[in-house]
Amino acid sequence: MLRVIVENVPPLDQGKEPSGQFAASLTSVAIFAGVILTAALFGNFTRPAGHLSAFWPANALMLGMLVRNPKLARPFALLGAAGAYMCADLISGGPLVMTLLLTIANMVSVMAGYQLFSRLDPLDQRLGRPLSIFYLVLGAALCAAAAGVVGGIANPLLFQGSVLEGWGFWFVSELVNYIAILPVILTLPALAWSKDKADVSRYASLNVTPAMLAPAAFLVLSAIAGLVVGGPGAIGFPVPALLWCALVYSQFMTAVLTLLFSGWTLLAISMGYIPLGLDNNEWSTVMSIRMGVTLIALAPVTVASVTAVRNELMRRLQHMAAHDQLTDLLNRGGFKARSQALLGLPSAAKQPVAMLMLDIDRFKDINDTYGHAAGDRVLSAFARLAAAKLRGGDPFGRIGGEEFAILLSDCSRECAEQIAHHIRTVFEQATIDVGDGRSITATVSIGLVMAEKPIVDLDALLLAADKSLYRAKREGRNRVELGELDAGPSMLFDGWRA
Ligand code: GH3
Ligand code: MG
Ligand code: MG
Repeated sequence: MLRVIVENVPPLDQGKEPSGQFAASLTSVAIFAGVILTAALFGNFTRPAGHLSAFWPANALMLGMLVRNPKLARPFALLGAAGAYMCADLISGGPLVMTLLLTIANMVSVMAGYQLFSRLDPLDQRLGRPLSIFYLVLGAALCAAAAGVVGGIANPLLFQGSVLEGWGFWFVSELVNYIAILPVILTLPALAWSKDKADVSRYASLNVTPAMLAPAAFLVLSAIAGLVVGGPGAIGFPVPALLWCALVYSQFMTAVLTLLFSGWTLLAISMGYIPLGLDNNEWSTVMSIRMGVTLIALAPVTVASVTAVRNELMRRLQHMAAHDQLTDLLNRGGFKARSQALLGLPSAAKQPVAMLMLDIDRFKDINDTYGHAAGDRVLSAFARLAAAKLRGGDPFGRIGGEEFAILLSDCSRECAEQIAHHIRTVFEQATIDVGDGRSITATVSIGLVMAEKPIVDLDALLLAADKSLYRAKREGRNRVELGELDAGPSMLFDGWRA
């Protein structure tokens, strides 16, 4: 349900009539208010008698939803949110004056944080770099400090306490809620309407192995150990498990587990499940516990953020190492590695494969006549046009200056010839813009070799395709030549090699 409202610019109202847009935004506001109402009721339900709530998720949820979908930061939706806070308190039997005060505190707190978060870079809003955690803490502290002002006013009036105690108590209580809950909403993957279908299938095809469950299982065991052993130190028991989770799981998963840890710890202490050996009603004890849980929660969230940045960096480095910068095709090393992996698959053993070697004709003349930059544009255009004629997953690489190679696995002779001819003709017919208002045409020669049986020697396959290519050049260029594979000693099939 949350997914519908958290993503920036939800697809709900895309391309709809104004009346449809109104209905969509009405639905968003209803869900927004509904989530706040449910969270506030939950907060009230967990409230120990005579105290404020031990765990108050509504404010952090509201702020998270506003950051993910700024369209909700409009008077109509904000009124809905205020109404939800009031309803929850009135349902729980709160007096009207207190309900009003608490609602003002909640709204002021959330909007103070929104002032900061809405100004952040989208990458920081998604906790996409280590520095984002600094903004998270700053924003949460701002929210908590704003709520504290109302707490400072309310404390002498409603609880006969001091202003400073009221402010401090509210500050710490709100801080833990924001630090624990906000990361979950901010890092929630927007899968439901993700444009990147690979994103969705990556999650759908996620293979959960027992080894992957180990950090989560360790976390549960640590929490149980805390219950059994008890004492103030029990709060820290799950820290190593949380850090392990942060190194292994996604940022979102880590945020969820951290939230579970924080929620569980606060609840278990307030319900007396974890015997601390301290007076839980003591103001300083409650403050200390909440502050401790807040600071513990920051550690896994920070490590997860650093891990996510490192993983993304590794992914980019690996991509750069295997791809050509100009065309973004595989480079020679990347092409050979991908092809070798494909040929090594058990399914490839029974199927024919084809290797295509492609070389742009008279490319030097293009460079000499129109300049090197124009030549680059021809290379890019060729890569784009040829890739469009391939089936998804066929390894396609730029293995030299204007030389390319394509491996077609599970491809009959007819299929391979057809693909080769499609590439040749589409390139021949293309008019390529080479800048300065000039357009040119170019052609490509293609050498094709079939291997009807499983071939493991990729170099031999490339060599054979290269020979066909030279024949295509000799025979006049702009043509496809089909060659035979020499069954020399280097062409041993998999089974024979053993
Ligand atoms: P043929 O039809 O026989 O293949 O002739 P050709 O001119 O295409 O072949 P040749 O090998 O003589 O020339 C290839 C040229 O490709 C030479 C080199 O300067 C150019 N080249 C190599 N890499 C790049 C590149 O990244 N960009 C550009 N613009 N030119 C490149
Ligand atoms: Mg050439
Ligand atoms: Mg060449």
